[in-house]
Order: sequence, then C-alpha cells, then structure tokens
Amino acid sequence: MLDKIKDTTKEKIRNFLIKDYYFEEVLVLKEVVEAMIDLANEAYPNEYTTFLKGRIKDKTLTFYEMVYQPYHASRTSTRIRIDLPLTSGVLGSVHSHPGFSNRPSMADTRFFSKQGMVHFIICRPYAVQSIACYDKNGRRIDWDLKIDNSTD
Ligand SMILES: [Zn+2]
Repeated sequence: MLDKIKDTTKEKIRNFLIKDYYFEEVLVLKEVVEAMIDLANEAYPNEYTTFLKGRIKDKTLTFYEMVYQPYHASRTSTRIRIDLPLTSGVLGSVHSHPGFSNRPSMADTRFFSKQGMVHFIICRPYAVQSIACYDKNGRRIDWDLKIDNSTD
C-alpha cells in the first residue's frame, strides 16, 4: 500500500513541519508500543493523547519515540496542549479509548485532518491487537511491530 501524506495546513499548524512524505510501510518500535499500552492502562478510565516521533527511510515510516505532552483527559475527550519544538520529528499521534472501539470519533477525524499525520487509537482490552492506525483522512492503514531496536 502506498500512502501519501501531504501537509496542506503548514501555515496553520506550524508545529508540524511535515512536507511530502511517501511511505509504504508503518513500523512501531516494541518499546513505543509497550508505552502506548502502559499509558492507556494508567489513564483508564480516561483517555490519553500523545505524539510520536518517526522517521522515513526506504519508504518505511518507523515510529521510534513517544513524546510526552501535558494533556487534560476526561472520559469522553482529550484536550491536548500542542507545544512541540519545530524540529521535533513528530509524525504521529496516539490516543486511547476507554471503550472497546478503536474507530475514530467525529472529533478524532477532525483532529486527524488538521494534523495531517499518522494516528493510532488503542481501545480496550489494551494490547497490541487493539491498536489501529489511520491516515489523516481517517482511513485505516496497516502497521507492524518492530522488535529490533535499530532505526535505520
Ligand atoms: Zn478518539
């Protein structure tokens, strides 16, 4: 699958300097996946939202680090304060759902399209199999766990 992420909102969302990125594969390092699951459990019954650093090489987008952000969580929504350095390399977000659906809500879809990145949603029961990945249009995209630590 070839997915194109094009940032058309660069002026508005100056925190995310995403140019034209092309990738065919999405990988997430094992420790990042573990952090996604741990944070979901800690936040439960609330949501958490945070961002992910990634890099693209040979058409593979690899998320290698979680960026902890201050957030305000509630049972139904997560408001996040976006305060990232300009060159942070943030290419994705992740948030949890306290329910059993990892499909994006209306608010999620708006957030995805505004950010123009790759977005993960983890639902209960919090586990690797509960993590879904979406593009900025809310279309589901495949992702894989990357066990090995190297990022290139
Ligand atoms: Zn959501």
